[in-house]
Amino acid sequence: MKNQYVVYSAHWDHLGIGQPDRRGDTIYNGAVDNASGVASVIEIAEAFTKLPPAERPRRSILFLIPTAEEQGLLGAEWYVRHPLVPLVRTAADINLDSMNILGTTRDFVPLGAERSSIENVAEAIAHERNMRVVHDPRPEQGSFYRSDHFPFARFGVPSISLKEGDTFDGRPAGWGERMFREYNTAHYHQPSDEYSDSWDFRGMIQEADIAFAIGRRIADLDQMPHFNPNDEFAQADRNRR
Ligand SMILES: [Zn+2]
Repeated sequence: MKNQYVVYSAHWDHLGIGQPDRRGDTIYNGAVDNASGVASVIEIAEAFTKLPPAERPRRSILFLIPTAEEQGLLGAEWYVRHPLVPLVRTAADINLDSMNILGTTRDFVPLGAERSSIENVAEAIAHERNMRVVHDPRPEQGSFYRSDHFPFARFGVPSISLKEGDTFDGRPAGWGERMFREYNTAHYHQPSDEYSDSWDFRGMIQEADIAFAIGRRIADLDQMPHFNPNDEFAQADRNRR
């Protein structure tokens, strides 16, 4: 199984230099979107290297930091057309795009997991942490089609993009939704997507831990994940095998 791979992906690009905001700032830092995801993939890679030999997963792990996501997933699209490891031996992609900087939650969204057998893995990992898997709370955002896991899905590789849920520890109902809207209006794809001392890294650590656990579990499964027979990507999954 060593020649089969679980992929972790996080895009490193953002928007570069652009229109100034009200403060005259022209640098689009992309601290949340997606330096936070890149940092998490690097930490996950380090965590895998620190596992004692007896606990290392059966499959191998591949860490992918594609570019030009913001221009239309171009880096990931290029990767699936020129993969380092043939897609028939690619078990899954776990994508991280914009980590949770707001604190720990009691739920998480493994975006796209319900399309494939990854759903069982996500449910098991949630159960072990006394957490809940929730479906995409904002399907109107079309998030499944808007990050680097999507080209993998289109080429038949079961994939998810992990997002935090809306139920934050110590916060009232609706707080998470309000914070999402605030970020989306005030910082998303703007120069003000910057690091701030107000970030609560406990949420990011929790999210990276969940991503690590899901990938590790997939890497130990007897069978590679597969799309559900009726899913729109099931044919692509059959074609690559
Ligand atoms: Zn992004």
